[in-house]
Amino acid sequence: MRQVRQTLQKEITYNTIMKMMGHPTAEEVYDSVHLTYPHVSKATVYRNLASLEEKGVIKRIPKLGGGSDRYDKNMIPHFHAKCKCCGKIFDVALPLEGVLEKAKVMEDEGFSLNSYQLIFEGTCTECRLKEK
Ligand SMILES: [Zn+2]
Ligand SMILES: [Zn+2]
Repeated sequence: MRQVRQTLQKEITYNTIMKMMGHPTAEEVYDSVHLTYPHVSKATVYRNLASLEEKGVIKRIPKLGGGSDRYDKNMIPHFHAKCKCCGKIFDVALPLEGVLEKAKVMEDEGFSLNSYQLIFEGTCTECRLKEK
């Protein structure tokens, strides 16, 4: 029974994050799970997120643009842009090949490269419309 319950709760966490927009924090995922499933504990949600990350289903972005760690369900390599006004984070579909190739020069100097983080900052369309 315990096994069944654990699998179910992992499914709940997974389905919730997949329905969420953008790059939610663990706290936001928990809040959303909690709305529909008040019996699922915060520890369970956090544990499930870590396990989904381990499986490569979602990606954790440490302190994306300052603040808390966030989870990303877009597993295709991409950059992020952060709005300075509202703090929203957007995916940026830029061709990455060239950048990663260039970054490989670090490996010539003995640095083992396994991830990257680049954040563009600016003002999003919504905030720009509000400013007017
Ligand atoms: Zn904004
Ligand atoms: Zn992203």
